[in-house]
Formats: sequence, structure tokens, C-alpha cells
Amino acid sequence: MKLIIYLLLIYLVYKVIKIWMAPSAYSGKGEYGSAGTVEDIMIKDPVCGVYFPKKDGIYLNDDGRDMYFCSSECRDRFVDSGSKK
Ligand SMILES: [Zn+2]
Repeated sequence: MKLIIYLLLIYLVYKVIKIWMAPSAYSGKGEYGSAGTVEDIMIKDPVCGVYFPKKDGIYLNDDGRDMYFCSSECRDRFVDSGSKK
């Protein structure tokens, strides 16, 4: 019956070595960390309060300020509310 314990031990060692050898594959999506880009900055939508990646945001220049929105609908709502001065 000791053979099973040995096999289990070998399996565990094999698993640890596998994780060691390929840490990127273990941590999830493959494309992450390949180029080292810092484009995944999360921004809060000022209209609906949703967080989204900056690269997916809708850009608006509001009186020289850089604004980003989760969708063009939120941008339009912001523009509408802002023009009621
Ligand atoms: Zn929004």
C-alpha cells in the first residue's frame, strides 16, 4: 500500500515543478504580461459609477478636462446635464 503514497508524492512534486516552470500559464490569461503594457487602468464612469478599462472608454474633452465614459450613452447624458448652465 506504500506504493500509492509514493505515487501521490511523485504526482505532487510533478505538479509543483510544472507550476514553477510555467508561472505565466498558472496565473491565467496568456496575453497578460507579454508586452508589459499598462493600458488596463480602471476608471470610474462619472455618470453611472461603473468601473471600466481606460482603453475601452469613450473619450470626451470637457473644457480641457479628459473625461472617459463606459459608453456613448453615458457621455451623452454627461454632455446633456453639463449644458444646462
Ligand atoms: Zn456609464
